[in-house]
Amino acid sequence: MSYDEVEIEDMTWNEKLQAYTYPCPCGDLFQITLEELRAGEEIARCPSCSLYITVIYDPEDYENAEPPTGGSDTKAPAAPPHTPEVEVH
Ligand SMILES: [Zn+2]
Repeated sequence: MSYDEVEIEDMTWNEKLQAYTYPCPCGDLFQITLEELRAGEEIARCPSCSLYITVIYDPEDYENAEPPTGGSDTKAPAAPPHTPEVEVH
């Protein structure tokens, strides 16, 4: 039995994880990827505990879905500057 049933509209697209997420009571996030949605998967699992939720969505909406992009201003930070290797003597 799943922990809960959550509509996809209530989940949050996480750019970093490339998955729809929903807060898990353990503090982590239930996750389901777009690919899983396309495949008809409806279980979003939490990587940190054994809980999972059933995602309510219309599979037809995701058959050809693209990852949501959006003018969010959460830009990935630039790559850290290359640190010169320290020579150990
Ligand atoms: Zn959890």
